[in-house]
Amino acid sequence: MAAEILQRCATEFKSRREVTFLTGIVGPLALTAVMLHSQQKREQAEQLILKLKSLSTYVLDKRSGVPDELLYGRAGYLFGLLYLNSNILPAPIEADLIKQVVSCIINSGISYATSNRSQSPLMYSWHDTEYIGAAHGLAGILYLLLQARQYLTQVQIDDYIKPSLYYLQKLQFSSGNFPSSIGNFSDKLVHWCHGAPGMCALFCLAYKVFEDNTFLETAIQCGEVTWERGLLKKGYSICHGVAGNGYTFIHLFQHTKNIKYLYRACKFAEWCFDYGLHQNRSPDRPFSLFEGLAGVIYFLLDMQQLHLAKFPMYDI
Ligand SMILES: [Zn+2]
Repeated sequence: MAAEILQRCATEFKSRREVTFLTGIVGPLALTAVMLHSQQKREQAEQLILKLKSLSTYVLDKRSGVPDELLYGRAGYLFGLLYLNSNILPAPIEADLIKQVVSCIINSGISYATSNRSQSPLMYSWHDTEYIGAAHGLAGILYLLLQARQYLTQVQIDDYIKPSLYYLQKLQFSSGNFPSSIGNFSDKLVHWCHGAPGMCALFCLAYKVFEDNTFLETAIQCGEVTWERGLLKKGYSICHGVAGNGYTFIHLFQHTKNIKYLYRACKFAEWCFDYGLHQNRSPDRPFSLFEGLAGVIYFLLDMQQLHLAKFPMYDI
């Protein structure tokens, strides 16, 4: 069934301007390539990988207007490249291409931060707003860059990534939550896309990479506010609903092995079993991965193998 669905996606998708794993052709191409490769259809897989790589001319073109964020921009293309390399052996994407993409993202962040006098060495804007969350903001971009750290230079890590993490860390509200964008002081949204749940994975990984305890402390605070306020009436989705917030505890459990987080993840999963009952409005795309039922089922399947669980299109 997956093969059938992917075939339709890959052939009917026309736009070359949508280049991310989630919203563009990159997802169907990468998933199909991994599937074909596992069926020993290596030449067919190679064709799809070439097509995916050819999109890089557009992604790397500074005048193309491609944003840098995860859902519609370069970080979402980077996910596709990293996904292929972690699921096909030998890794089909050359290190040089990945280095070009990460450098393009970093240079774009430096250039925006400099011309807008940002206090962070890296800053980005999407639709004229300096978002900081996972979906459209700095956190999502940093999370992908940190997962691509083997392709970064020490200077890129020490002078840009690490100080941007410290900058971001200072924006945490006393509640443990994060604002959705720079200059917005309302402590309202506790979602993966905007707020603490999406930041938790970033600070867990930052702790693993830099071994700075304050990063773990930030992640733990994200977990506390998600436990207190994360059962949303808004819905069940992984983007801005209870299933996505459940991943906060999965990430904390994976990094700390503290069973308190396993318990909390289970309670959020339990809430999802009453599907539809606790929500006061239905999603725009009720069956989709990010807004609908597919994502909730994905979360519940992940709950059965927590050490392997990965937030789709976020964790490599
Ligand atoms: Zn959302």
